[in-house]
This record gives sequence, C-alpha cells and structure tokens, in this order.
Amino acid sequence: MSIRHTGIGMTSQRTRVRMVDRVRQQGVQDEAVLAALNAVPRHIFVDEALASRAYEDIALPIGYGQTISNPYIVARMLEVLRAGGGLDKVLEIGTGCGYQAAILARVAREVYSVERIAPLLSRARKSLREIRALNVRLKHADGSLGWAEFGPFDGIVVAAAATMIAPELTDQLAIGGRMVVPFGAGEQRLRLIERTAHGFKESDLEAVKFVPLIPGVS
Ligand code: SAH
Repeated sequence: MSIRHTGIGMTSQRTRVRMVDRVRQQGVQDEAVLAALNAVPRHIFVDEALASRAYEDIALPIGYGQTISNPYIVARMLEVLRAGGGLDKVLEIGTGCGYQAAILARVAREVYSVERIAPLLSRARKSLREIRALNVRLKHADGSLGWAEFGPFDGIVVAAAATMIAPELTDQLAIGGRMVVPFGAGEQRLRLIERTAHGFKESDLEAVKFVPLIPGVS
C-alpha cells in the first residue's frame, strides 16, 4: 500500500463520504454511481500537491492545460448514461487523469478510453493500475472518431466539449445505446443522444463547462 493510500485528514474515507453526500444533495440519485464515487480514491488521480483538495467540488488542474472534472458532473454524466440499468461496453473520450474511467470501471463491464495527450495517458494508466481497474483499456489517439475496433458501445461519454459530432462516432453507438456529450463553443450544454431502431433522438440536459475537444494527438 502506498503512502498516499494511508493519507489522513483530507484524503480519508470520511472526506470521501462527505463528497458523495454533496453530490447526492446536488441531485444525483443513482445509487450504483454514488457507491462507485464512494469506493474510488480521488486523490491518487491528482498531483500530490493538490491531494488535499481532491474531494472538493471543483475541477482541478491535471497538467497540459487540462482538468479533472468535478465529482458532481462525473456522477451526473454516468447517471444519465446508465439510465438506471447496467452498462456493458462503454467508450470514454478524454481519459485525462483516469478518474472518470475508474468510476466507469465500477458501473460497466468493459471500459475503453481514448486520450490525445500521451503523458496524461501514461499517468492515468499508472493510477488505474494502482487501484486495479482491470476492465479499462486505454489508447493514445484522437478520440473524436471513437474506437471502432471495439464498438458498438452501449454507452459513449465525451469528457471534452464538442462543436461537431462525427457520424463515425455515432455509428459506434449500439441500438438502444446512449451518448452523453458536452456541446458548444462558448456556452456549453450537456446533450444526450439516444440511438433507437429508427435513428437518433437528442435531448438537452443542463449547462456545463468543459475543456474543448481538440483534433489530433500530442
Ligand atoms: N475524464 C477526465 C476528464 C479530463 S478533461 C478525468 O476524469 O480526468 C478532458 C480530456 O479530454 C483532456 O485530457 C483532453 O486532453 C482530452 N481530449 C480533448 N480532445 C480529445 C480528443 N480529440 N481525443 C481524445 N482526448 C481528447
């Protein structure tokens, strides 16, 4: 067990319980998601210098101009993705530090996650190994075209704001599948795209603030 797991005070289980309580107060009701939030140590996904702030309701810097999403929005997106049911295969676009992938690993059977910034991906790989999230597969690539090899997915979650959605990506959504995506350049809104036997159905959820989805790799 590493020293960071034995941390006292701000990194303790009690602090995590309070974080989950706040997420619940903000309106998240899915018990499976809340249990996952309760089980995953968030501080191991951020720099040690920021570990004491890991359970606050804020987005934290993870380097390379990117942020770890705040706990509420991670929970909210996965609640919408699950829609009260189980998830089989899920694709995440934008691994970042790997925190959301770690939560996903507890509510889905298989998780595929794509990240365009190589050093972020290798750090995420290390953290996910540390918490033994064995059902997560990672790839260094531009995720805007998805990961066709493993599709179709019954859930796709985009962790960066898109201004367009490629048909290659929606094609990887299984019939009955759901995709949650922050959309917009200035003002961003969270959107749900559902694939039915007859096509796609879109709904608007709430205002959000994400880093932009950027093409290419770095
Ligand atoms: N789920 C992450 C959130 C990270 S922020 C977490 O829990 O920490 C969004 C991430 O999306 C950033 O790491 C950014 O590099 C990545 N990203 C942006 N555009 C991308 C693209 N086209 N393909 C893959 N990843 C992308």
